[in-house]
Amino acid sequence: MTRINRVNGQGSIPCQIMLIGEAPGQTEDKKGIPFCGKSGSELTYLYLEKCANIGRQNVYITNLVKCRTNDRDRDPSQGEIDACSQLLVDEIYEVQPRFIGLIGRLSTQWFFKDRTMDIRMDKIHGFGYSTGILVGSGKVGYVMPLYHPAYGLHNTPMMRHIMEDFRRFGRMVRGDESVMWRAR
Ligand code: URA
Repeated sequence: MTRINRVNGQGSIPCQIMLIGEAPGQTEDKKGIPFCGKSGSELTYLYLEKCANIGRQNVYITNLVKCRTNDRDRDPSQGEIDACSQLLVDEIYEVQPRFIGLIGRLSTQWFFKDRTMDIRMDKIHGFGYSTGILVGSGKVGYVMPLYHPAYGLHNTPMMRHIMEDFRRFGRMVRGDESVMWRAR
């Protein structure tokens, strides 16, 4: 683990909408702000604003792991994820989001870890799932696994799928039931 800054979540508390990424990259590490580098600007201006029709100011954004992993941004190890896990649980408890976007495979795996669900991003991304847990507003919460914006930086055809995921996320936030997973 190498880092300049610990990168805490950003946004107001409580907040209806929360996004959980993987780990800070170089720019995030320098500035101490989540998603403020290249994939952060794609997230803010393309995927959130244009596709989901949600302003970043209305979202609480955080990461599964709060520190940059190394200078090549490898995936966080299980030990690093475990070390940050309680922080994220506390954050979710404080923020009380009604809608959570799980950005990328690692935060999706973390969220569903104790459940019997098969974590295959290609099968489950873009669908909303009820958490079965009532949030501060007294309404049930929902999560949606989303492809990570960083995926689209090196793979332009992938952007189409990321854009579609965020469109569906916006629809979930606006109460569209048709994006919810139905057993088939
Ligand atoms: N990728 C992430 O998962 N989180 C960030 O904060 C930046 C890039």
